[in-house]
Amino acid sequence: MCCELMRRIMSVPLFWKTGVPITALVGACLTLSACDKPESSAIANNVSDAKVAAPVIPDGASYFYDGEMRVDPESHQVDLTWDLTLQHAGETQISYLLNGEFENITVTGPDITDVQIEPSEFFLNEASLVTVSFNPEAEGPYQFNIAYSGQFLDEGIDPPINSISSSKIELTVDSLWLPFDTRFSERLVAEVDVFVDGDWSGVTNGQVEEIDGGLRFILDRPNLDIPIILMSDYRQTESGDYKIYDTREGEYDLAPLADMAGYCTNYLNELYGDPVPLPGASIVINQREDSGYARQSLIALTDIGEEYDADLLQFVCHELAHFWSLKGNPSTVENWLNESFADYVANMAVREREGEDAFEARMARYAARIESQDLPPIWTEGQTTRPPYAVSYRKGPLAIQYLEELAGREVFAEIMRRYMVETIDTTPKLLDIVEQEAGPEIRQAFQDRLAE
Ligand SMILES: [Zn+2]
Repeated sequence: MCCELMRRIMSVPLFWKTGVPITALVGACLTLSACDKPESSAIANNVSDAKVAAPVIPDGASYFYDGEMRVDPESHQVDLTWDLTLQHAGETQISYLLNGEFENITVTGPDITDVQIEPSEFFLNEASLVTVSFNPEAEGPYQFNIAYSGQFLDEGIDPPINSISSSKIELTVDSLWLPFDTRFSERLVAEVDVFVDGDWSGVTNGQVEEIDGGLRFILDRPNLDIPIILMSDYRQTESGDYKIYDTREGEYDLAPLADMAGYCTNYLNELYGDPVPLPGASIVINQREDSGYARQSLIALTDIGEEYDADLLQFVCHELAHFWSLKGNPSTVENWLNESFADYVANMAVREREGEDAFEARMARYAARIESQDLPPIWTEGQTTRPPYAVSYRKGPLAIQYLEELAGREVFAEIMRRYMVETIDTTPKLLDIVEQEAGPEIRQAFQDRLAE
């Protein structure tokens, strides 16, 4: 189990303004070299709490994370406790990664037979690898608690998204502030109570409620991450279902950005909002130069100045399109579906608002960027590896454009609609709907293009 090469999944590299890829969550491989390190502690701390009624885990998710965090922004001290419910499907041993700064790690629960905690690393940052063994005879979902505390120091964490200060607390999976299943594929729903002194507003990829002494973050759709941002100093603009929070120093005109977000939402909801429309979104603008990211209805932007152009429109639409286009397993070849389709839909939005020339110019830029690159196929039968950036974000959208040209816009629109609203999580399923809508010849031509 240890010493294996693991592929980091949740890469959201963004092209931003200069065309330089700014990597929100850098895609790369990392080695969990825990076996080299002798230090290991066995904590069979399986104090038998009786099982409580398990929360309902919706389709598409494996976990319910019921968390509580106490945080002191001055000292950076955090205390966390999570009651996890895992819809088990036969696995009896699962490893979790945790930020290496955390101490006093305990794992307890009625279904646990063994716990091993070893030093490890995650993307060059120190981490703890917590391997939990479950009783194979256990009935129902596994239920267990993971608790820990420590001084959360943000200096060393790369990329520099995660931080705790008196004006902002921003946490994503990059910092391993939550225990993260090393299969990198299991989705979760969550309810996290954050207790912190002072007057804070919060955003997440879900809902935020005020509670006594803090905020409650509710993620009720399947997620890979629990991204939360708390802010005590910001300017806010609201437009329809959008909230824009500007945490930068200085005053900027936010109206054009609100307008773009509204445009993308209307565009996407009209096409794909039946039966489930995009629930509005929160956009947070940060002081930093790079590392923007998006988690469906939470979008974190870098300092965009006041440059409101087609690239920003495309970026916002791309991120919002992930509300639908995120069903492929992101650690596999199928991540091309997630990224290429979100990206192409965003280019369609540019075409709708800015015109055909703006769209053609964008696609020509994509073609030019990959022209001299030696890239692997987008998809062939038996291919499993997660595609590189240029395949997911450039080669894939170009192949989808080719499909649109082959099938014609009307037929293509129906293929796209079905991709977005049905559970199309693999390329063979996509090829089936291409065949149903456009016929076997176009399916074959598209499939051949994917294999180039
Ligand atoms: Zn994306």
